[in-house]
Amino acid sequence: MTPLHRHEPRILGSLPGPNAAEWLKRDHRVMSPSYTRAYPLVVRRARGAMVEDLDGNRFLDFTAGIAVTAAGHCHPRVTAAIRVQAGRLVHMSGTDFYYMPQVRLAERLVAIAPGPDPKRVFFTNSGAEAIEAALKLARRHTGRLRALAFLNAFHGRTYGAMSLSGSKPMQRRGFAPLVPEIQHARFGDLDSVRTLLRTVCPPEELAAIFVEPIQGEGGYIVPPADFLPGLRRLCDEHGILLVLDEVQSGIGRTGKMFASEHWGVAGDIVCLSKGIANGLPLGAIVARAEVMDWPSGSHASTFGGNPVACAAALATLDLVEARYRANAERRGRELRAGLESLKPRAPQIHEVRGLGLMIGAEIRSAGEPDPALRDRIIDLAYRRGLLLLPCGPSTIRFCPPLCLSRRQVQIGLRLFDDALASVDARQFLPSGYPS
Ligand code: PLP
Repeated sequence: MTPLHRHEPRILGSLPGPNAAEWLKRDHRVMSPSYTRAYPLVVRRARGAMVEDLDGNRFLDFTAGIAVTAAGHCHPRVTAAIRVQAGRLVHMSGTDFYYMPQVRLAERLVAIAPGPDPKRVFFTNSGAEAIEAALKLARRHTGRLRALAFLNAFHGRTYGAMSLSGSKPMQRRGFAPLVPEIQHARFGDLDSVRTLLRTVCPPEELAAIFVEPIQGEGGYIVPPADFLPGLRRLCDEHGILLVLDEVQSGIGRTGKMFASEHWGVAGDIVCLSKGIANGLPLGAIVARAEVMDWPSGSHASTFGGNPVACAAALATLDLVEARYRANAERRGRELRAGLESLKPRAPQIHEVRGLGLMIGAEIRSAGEPDPALRDRIIDLAYRRGLLLLPCGPSTIRFCPPLCLSRRQVQIGLRLFDDALASVDARQFLPSGYPS
C-alpha cells in the first residue's frame, strides 16, 4: 500500500460520508458551539500535505491545521523525536525545574531570531499565551501602561490578546470590559500611528506596539515596504518596544524563518507558536536580554516548554531550516503565479497576495468583497478534495505544509480552478452541513 502522503485527493461519495456524519452528531452534542468549522471534515489520519477522513476520502491540505504543520503532518523525524522524548521524560515543569530540551530549544531560538544578542526565551503553550507574556513583559519592563495595535489584527482569544486584536466584532461581543489603554491604528499606515501618538496615545506612556509582519486572520495582508522599518524607527525614537507577532508568519512560512526578515527589521520581543512544534502545543517569546528582565516569580507556566513539545520543535526547526523554508519560497512562487494565471477566467479573484506559502486570494463580486461567495468556493473546493480556509472579510487563505511538492501545487490549482468554474455567483446553495 502506498503511504498516504503519496496519494492524490480522492472523494468517494457525497460529503460528509456516513462515518463522519456519525461523529459530527456526537461532536455537536458535546462540543462548545463557539468553534468556527468551515466544513464537516472529520480527520482520521494525515501525512505530509494529505489528510484522510473517516470514510476514506483523501484531501490535499492547503490549511496545515491553520498554518501549523510546517514540516508536514506526522513527519517521521518529528514523530521519532516525540517518541524518544515521550519514553524519556514527558513532564517536569520548566517553571520549577530544569531539563535539556527546553534549554536546547531556547539556544536555537536565540540563535535564529533576528536582532542583537544576548536574548532570552520564555515558553508558553499557545500563540495567545505568547502575546499575553509579551504584553506583561512590555508593561513591566517599560513601566508604561499603554499598548498600540492595528485594525484587522488577530493576536488570540485571551483577554490581553483579544484586546490587542482588531479583527471581528464577534470576537469581542459580550466580553467587555477588555484590557484598557489599547489603541488601534490602520495597518500599513504610518501616518495613522503618528496621529494616535499625537492625539490619544502619549508616546512616553506607550509600552509597546504589537504588529503582525503580515496580517494573518485579517486577510493575509502584506504591508507597504516602509511600514515595519517606519514602526521600528518610531519605537526607537520614543523608547517603545516593538513586539512582532510571528505566530502565523514565522518558522519558514513566508520563505524566511521570520517574516520580519523580508524588511530587515528586528523586534524587541518576537512571539512564536503555530509552526514551531509541527502540531504539538508550544509557543515562545524571544526578547533582548535587557528587555526580559522580570524577576523570578513574575511570570511562569506549568506546561509551557514541555519536553516533548520542545523535542518536536527541535526536529521541526532542523527540517524547516534545512529544506522546507526554501521549499516554501519556491512552491509559494509557483502557487502565486498559478493563482494569478487563473484570474483572467475567474473574475471572482480580485487580488492574489502574500509571501512564501502564506498566500491570500481575495474574492469579490461586482467589485465588492463577497464573503458568501468566498465561503461557497471553499465549500466547493472541499467537495473536490482541496482543504482551504477563509481569512479577512472575503479572502481565501492558502497556507499548506511547507513540504508541499510541485505536483501538489499543480493538483491544488486544478481543484481550485474547478471549484471556481463551478461556483454560480448568483445562487448560493446551502452548504449541505448537517444541522
Ligand atoms: N497571533 C496570530 C498572528 C495568530 O494567527 C494567532 C492564531 O491564529 C494567534 C496569535 C493566537 O494563537 P493561538 O490560537 O495559538 O492562541
